[in-house]
Amino acid sequence: ATQSADVIIVGAGLSGLIAARELQRQGVDVLVLEARDRVGGRMYTIKNKKSPYVDLGAAYIGATQKRVWKLIKEFDLKAFPTNEKEDLIYYEQGRVKRFRTIFPPVGGLLSWLDMNNMLRKFDKMGAEIPLDAPWKAPHAKDWDRITVQQFINKNAWTRAGRYIISDSVRLNNTIGPHEVSLLYILWHYRTVGGIHLINATEGGAQECKLVGGNQQICHRLSDQVGHDRIILGSPVVHINQMGNDVIVTSLPGLKYKCNQVIVTTPLSIQAKMSYSPPLPAHRNELIQRVPMGSVMKAFAYYDTPFWKEKGFCGSANVNDKDCIITYTMDNSAPDGTTPALVAFIVAENARRAILMTKEERQQRILADLAKVFDSKLALSPTHYEEMNWSTEQYSGGCYFLALPTGVLTTYGPILRQPVDRVYFGGTETATQWAGYMEGAIQAGERAARQVLHAKGKISEEEVEIPDNDEETKSKRLELSFMERHAPSVPGFFGMLALTGLVATLCSKL
Ligand code: FAD
Repeated sequence: ATQSADVIIVGAGLSGLIAARELQRQGVDVLVLEARDRVGGRMYTIKNKKSPYVDLGAAYIGATQKRVWKLIKEFDLKAFPTNEKEDLIYYEQGRVKRFRTIFPPVGGLLSWLDMNNMLRKFDKMGAEIPLDAPWKAPHAKDWDRITVQQFINKNAWTRAGRYIISDSVRLNNTIGPHEVSLLYILWHYRTVGGIHLINATEGGAQECKLVGGNQQICHRLSDQVGHDRIILGSPVVHINQMGNDVIVTSLPGLKYKCNQVIVTTPLSIQAKMSYSPPLPAHRNELIQRVPMGSVMKAFAYYDTPFWKEKGFCGSANVNDKDCIITYTMDNSAPDGTTPALVAFIVAENARRAILMTKEERQQRILADLAKVFDSKLALSPTHYEEMNWSTEQYSGGCYFLALPTGVLTTYGPILRQPVDRVYFGGTETATQWAGYMEGAIQAGERAARQVLHAKGKISEEEVEIPDNDEETKSKRLELSFMERHAPSVPGFFGMLALTGLVATLCSKL
């Protein structure tokens, strides 16, 4: 073997770096093998003359991402609120509506009742699901057998009711609602703190951004772990547990010897490695059933924030079959310099967009921005950046995993189970904020503690830090009286019918 360490960690994303630091703190010698020529994985900040920094991957720090906030404090970094001071836009087939709420105003009273009922139903069903064992939920089998689209078809009465859940899944999970298990999405939203929190800016998942970009967190962690303990440009291709040691082979053909391995890559990427002995049947099947979502982020920089001059903050829900963008937000620096918009191209639209040339795509995106913000200025940016996560072979798509039907109930129980001396971290294995930066930290810490337990350094009870529902609740997002008590569409008609009946009876008295 070229080099040896007590524990080898595969992947220098947030999860791998946290696991490395956790182990080092307990005196364990670690080596991190990273496929890319940089650390950070899905946290990727670029800098150039036109843009002081831009997060092409993870950008937003959720209000209750407490582990991320702890790191920000530790590294003395500065966060700033995502701008939503001015009006948001709901854009539907050429029409602009201004709003200030979390969810857009799609339609009138009946639409609102239906949307509210769908959102409430989603969280009520989610509340039944144990964070650490969604397969044990009372209705787990039934909900894992159907897609979110089937749930929508059965429960929504109006166009608004259908839109609100599909839009949330497309935007937050970068997948079509017809492709993904209802159980998985209900559980996923629960790990974040509910459907309101996942969609909200103030008090929610999009609350803040980091001055200088999120990859800084990974750079600071690598400084702590030690640059000599992180080997870049080393895709792991083989993990051999046949003898007394574990031998890890990287693509350049180098071999590393260790006692335990922690793999922190997205699950689908694990199917690109080979294993001796072969993985157990269920693990081998699991890693073939774990697609990532599809997303592109595009950034357009301008001389002036023309959207603000019209009283818009830059956030827009785009519900228009002729547009390829689904959501936009302001991406200017906190002091207002470098005015910019970020557009999200997700799910089916991302799959269309990735087939276009960069020039075609840029034109389409700018044309969409011009329509949504009703300004020709959108067509002439001073600078443009984009990132297509679908071509990233060490991510396999983004933001994260989107489980199809039947997978969670069948294979869920082995997600975090080690295979002999190989352990699994990565945000996909988290039970809080799964898929997000917070989940990456939680999973990295847990995987490290599993190894510490195997080494006899901590007890079994100390491995899992118990999940606390309260931690993911955002006090600022408590539902209003109306949101909690408004009837559903059939409930509303039932009330009308009853009122009519009572009125008729009374008139006869
Ligand atoms: P990764 O970052 O994927 O790290 C895994 C590492 O393993 C990578 O560095 C990879 O290169 C490496 N690797 C892969 N294969 C091999 C191999 N064979 N050998 C060695 N190394 C390998 N989260 C938020 O909290 N807020 C957001 O606003 C947000 N927005 C996002 C937007 C986008 C466009 C994307 C892409 C992600 C976003 N996320 C967001 C999700 C967040 O980035 C991830 O949850 C988090 O970074 C995952 O960290 P990780 O360490 O688990 O995985």
